[in-house]
Amino acid sequence: MSDIRALVAGNWKMNGTTASLPEAEAVMTRLSAGDFNPNADVMICPPATLLRAMSDRLQGSPVATGGEDCHANASGAHTGDISAEMLKDAGASAVIVGHSERRADHGETDAMVLEKARAAHRAGLTAIVCIGETEAQRRAGETLDIVTTQIRGSIAAGCTGVNTIIAYEPVWAIGSGLTPTTADVAEVHGAIRQELDAHLGADAASGMRILYGGSVKPDNARELMSVENVNGALVGGASLKAEDFLGIIAAYC
Ligand code: PEP
Repeated sequence: MSDIRALVAGNWKMNGTTASLPEAEAVMTRLSAGDFNPNADVMICPPATLLRAMSDRLQGSPVATGGEDCHANASGAHTGDISAEMLKDAGASAVIVGHSERRADHGETDAMVLEKARAAHRAGLTAIVCIGETEAQRRAGETLDIVTTQIRGSIAAGCTGVNTIIAYEPVWAIGSGLTPTTADVAEVHGAIRQELDAHLGADAASGMRILYGGSVKPDNARELMSVENVNGALVGGASLKAEDFLGIIAAYC
């Protein structure tokens, strides 16, 4: 494994009510117990409705919280949207931007994702910038071109290893139970690492975490997390239940 400290982040998506908070608390309890010390940071990104309550319950624990999306502006006439400043105020330390579901459902472009990443930084949040190819793009052999274009369009000067995390999530692997081969993951993560160095400069890109996301489960986490340049995971479905999420975090024990 790399010397970059890993992050295992859960993305609850549009799932969970107050009744789900004990799952997050169970993760906290296990990580605080002392006999389970993964060599990784841990975060849960719940729906915005749960962020304040979850942040309060996890405060001071090894489990951080994050938002799932933010608006580019700090405030204003944007009914239904949430700013990075509001997420920060609700206890978040990071925010996911450019998730493929946002790109697909809300037409988010690389330029919009870049503005959201900038908004995250303005608010003092870490931006977790998602990139990844569709199944058709992979079939067409375009994967490396796609992720390179996404990096150039949604990552810019000001993004550093301190304030920005990349999540490589092949769209076809999300929620499907399918994963790329470890060789494919190694190829894409290696290309992302090279592109970050070239695009931002090695100093700025130094230490930038590149997470893998897409059907990470307890039974494949160890293999996926051992691939070179994989610095953790962004986990959807398997982050909803403490037992599954802890099974993934255990890849770092
Ligand atoms: C995600 O949507 O970020 C994700 C990785 O989902 P899943 O783990 O369910 O494939």
